[in-house]
Amino acid sequence: MRGDDPEFDAWVDRARAGSFLQAIELCEFMPAKGQAQRNDRAGPCPACGGTDRFAVRFNDRVFNCRHCGARGRDALSLALVGEKISFVEACEALTGEPKPSHTRDETPEERAARHERRRKAEAAALVAAEKQARQIEADRRRSLESADRLWGRGGSLVNSPIADYFGHRDIRPLPPGIENLRFVSDLPYYVEVDVERGGDIETELRVIHRGPGMLGRIQAPAGRIIGVHRTWFDQIFSADNPKGRPHLFHPQTGKALKTKKVLGEQHGGAIRLVRGLDWRGNVPTGFPGDMIPPTRMFLAEGVETLLSVYLALWRDRSPLLDRAAFWCGINLGNLQNIRAPKPIAEVILLGDGDSDPDDTTKALGRAEASFTGQGCRVARLMADRGKDFNDMLRAS
Ligand SMILES: [Zn+2]
Repeated sequence: MRGDDPEFDAWVDRARAGSFLQAIELCEFMPAKGQAQRNDRAGPCPACGGTDRFAVRFNDRVFNCRHCGARGRDALSLALVGEKISFVEACEALTGEPKPSHTRDETPEERAARHERRRKAEAAALVAAEKQARQIEADRRRSLESADRLWGRGGSLVNSPIADYFGHRDIRPLPPGIENLRFVSDLPYYVEVDVERGGDIETELRVIHRGPGMLGRIQAPAGRIIGVHRTWFDQIFSADNPKGRPHLFHPQTGKALKTKKVLGEQHGGAIRLVRGLDWRGNVPTGFPGDMIPPTRMFLAEGVETLLSVYLALWRDRSPLLDRAAFWCGINLGNLQNIRAPKPIAEVILLGDGDSDPDDTTKALGRAEASFTGQGCRVARLMADRGKDFNDMLRAS
């Protein structure tokens, strides 16, 4: 067809040179969460699905699916991935001009063939989506089982290197009543790496570090374990590493890696660090009639923050400890998902001053609304600007 009609060819060339942004709308590409504004966007392939196999790089005007091989360097090819629209429609949309009028129309055969290709692509995408849903469920179950196993491997934190780690952060001596933390000496750190196999890029897991680690048991509101929070820390503590955690980097991207991760789930879960003390610091023994159910809950994002506040109150023999539980919500966004068990009537939200102030304020606002809705009085306690509660403890 090319060459028969210069006017038509010029129109198609203008479509190829069109906007990538418009093209991703035409093929209905939806980048994964958090990537919508980036130059590099990855997400499900408009033709074959998946979660992140399709990538578009705007600066270089390239796109690529590592599964079905859809790839190209022009807006028209991009718009046609998955064939959500016809060739002519794509050209019209990208150029903003109707098809040059004297060129021939799609024949009935071409039209039928196009519909058939589209029907097949949609059926394949449906099968892929179902397979993916089953895969996600299987992965979820597997990670829950490994979280359970990992927790079972953990030993007591008393006299373990965890106490040294906390000591390095000036959280010492450890006050009584701390639960749901365990120690493992050789916690493996896995990362996903890309490996080439027969011309295909596949992802596999690789251990890049093993070292001492702290486990925190994450419990759902009803008490069931849903995940394990892992913190990697250094073997030997030095003054030039005040956080006491290893510096880990991705072997392929060089990106600095987090030294805290969750295995399993965290949504709505919490690490219940302290069950509830009376103001003399007595730990409930658990015998019937001797329980001291907490009426107040301190809630923070991180274990270190929470323990820093707990220790400071403990040193002062603060009346705020009276029947107070201390829960770690793992991340700021999760605080609003936590349910305060009865008879807790007061929630004190602890906000670090070293995170983005806007994010912190918004997340604490949502948590406050949630606990107010649960019938609790809510107070916020903010660390000094630029600091977290552990910094404040160390300075005191
Ligand atoms: Zn694909």
